[in-house]
Amino acid sequence: MSEAISGASGGPVDPTVGGPHDPEHDPRASYALEPEYVARLTERVVATTGRTTQVHSPINGAPVANIPQSSTDDVAEAFRRARVAQAAWARVSVDERARILHRLHDIVLDRQAEIMDLIQLESGKARKHAFDEPLHIALTARYYARTAHRHLDSERRPGVVPALTKVEVNRVPKGVVGIISPWNYPFTMALCDGLPALLAGNAVVTKPDAQTMLSALLGARLLEDAGFPRDLWQVVAGPGRELGPPIIERSDYICFTGSTATGKVIAKQAAERLIGCSLELGGKNPILVLRDADIERAAEGAVRACFSNAGQLCVSTERMFVADAVYDRFVERFVARTKAMSLGATMDWDADMGTLISADQLETVTAHVDDAAAKGARVLAGGRARPDLAPYYYEPTILEGVTPEMTCFGNETFGPVVSIYRFHDEADAIARANDGEYGLNGSVYTRDTARGRAVARQIKCGTVNVNEAFGATFASIDAPMGGMRESGMGRRQGSEGIHRYTETQSVGTQRLIRFGPMLGMSDEGYAKFMTASLRLMDKLGRA
Ligand code: NAD
Repeated sequence: MSEAISGASGGPVDPTVGGPHDPEHDPRASYALEPEYVARLTERVVATTGRTTQVHSPINGAPVANIPQSSTDDVAEAFRRARVAQAAWARVSVDERARILHRLHDIVLDRQAEIMDLIQLESGKARKHAFDEPLHIALTARYYARTAHRHLDSERRPGVVPALTKVEVNRVPKGVVGIISPWNYPFTMALCDGLPALLAGNAVVTKPDAQTMLSALLGARLLEDAGFPRDLWQVVAGPGRELGPPIIERSDYICFTGSTATGKVIAKQAAERLIGCSLELGGKNPILVLRDADIERAAEGAVRACFSNAGQLCVSTERMFVADAVYDRFVERFVARTKAMSLGATMDWDADMGTLISADQLETVTAHVDDAAAKGARVLAGGRARPDLAPYYYEPTILEGVTPEMTCFGNETFGPVVSIYRFHDEADAIARANDGEYGLNGSVYTRDTARGRAVARQIKCGTVNVNEAFGATFASIDAPMGGMRESGMGRRQGSEGIHRYTETQSVGTQRLIRFGPMLGMSDEGYAKFMTASLRLMDKLGRA
């Protein structure tokens, strides 16, 4: 493993302190990071255009880095390199691949401070929410490293003629996987889907979101430090609309995480080429608080469910359905906990919630809350921007009395805004939770966990957590994660999350007999013999 890149803090960076160079005169410069550090990350981008785009920190608007931009030709070059690397990698044993992946687990835990610094600088999230990212990558690396053989070994299957037909099913890598990822969890979303792809013998070409390239590039470096061949993981940078089509044009499989609108565009392009794709998309995720819920636990969970990463989390809760019997008590506790949150965009561990990432995000959140308030919703907590804390900061917000004509009733806000509804009848609450087009994540709070699981089975979401916000499913890497309905297609995590990157190949070996008349048998005689054999097999209970 190489040393931490020079300039890496090993602890919080203070982005308010002027950096060593002046970004106005040195195009490599940054107010917050050493230029050499930035350069060692950005040199991983395959880019020959000479163009760069500047990334600013949402913490204070200061420049963080200039990111080289890739052209369509650069995308082609990235795929060329990836294909060469993949051909060699596919011959490396599963044990060796798993060993390298396991090393990533240790590296990520060792260098978590550096990882969190970059995530915070680029996204503005609270440090405790930045920690979720190295945590998720360590869990994912350990899980797949330890279960590699379970997912990838060839399997024996029963042949058509017992003892004489031998069949094995092999898992063949697809080739080069394209990964397009969003800004909200910039380190884990850029990496987590690629780890099983590598383990299965593929190469990867990634296009992380433009706002959070450094976090993704650090991931690429850490993969190299762990021992993955450098060319196995290619990074291109640029607008999704421009680079998406040439990536899909060359990928053997495409993995996309982002909005439902973009997911539909990607699915169409993948269909044109008949390549597989997985789409991890948006949600309007519900929590149900049943009448026997532990109210304090539900209120604590609701704060994490709604306001982690300022609600910019795909599995974040935006709708709460609370039983009549406990509604007032629950709302009192939830509002009190929300108002007690410590707000701020700082690099230390003090803030309970950080800032939104961009002016666009602030505009959407403000529009949703203002629209609801103008149409009669009550604001129980928050409800306003806080430019005194950071340029795009918005307070954690709880709304009551939200109705279908309000924008935030059914549309994803992707911000720190939750609507809270009262219910009398559990069946009605389940039906309301299932309303709409999304189906990503849900939660049920109840003291009766068996009943909680029974309710969970009726919720049309790809993951449902009982007495937890989202971590019980999301952090259980053996459990598949993904959306039903317009929240996505395919699954990450578990065997589903690695098998998507393989083709199954069945190899059948036949001994002694052949599939046709033998020993002078006529076609009619062969048909009779086979008919009798089929009846016998059925009597013997053979599948
Ligand atoms: P987005 O769809 O705008 O962008 C996501 C990525 O797609 C970016 O890298 C972007 O550059 C790229 N892109 C944009 N247009 C493209 C196109 N036409 N072709 C190819 N690529 C294109 O999404 P966003 O606003 O950045 O992310 C927020 C959304 O992502 C939310 O809806 C959120 O719920 C969802 N999300 C889902 C999950 C999940 O696991 N289900 C996880 C994180 C985020």
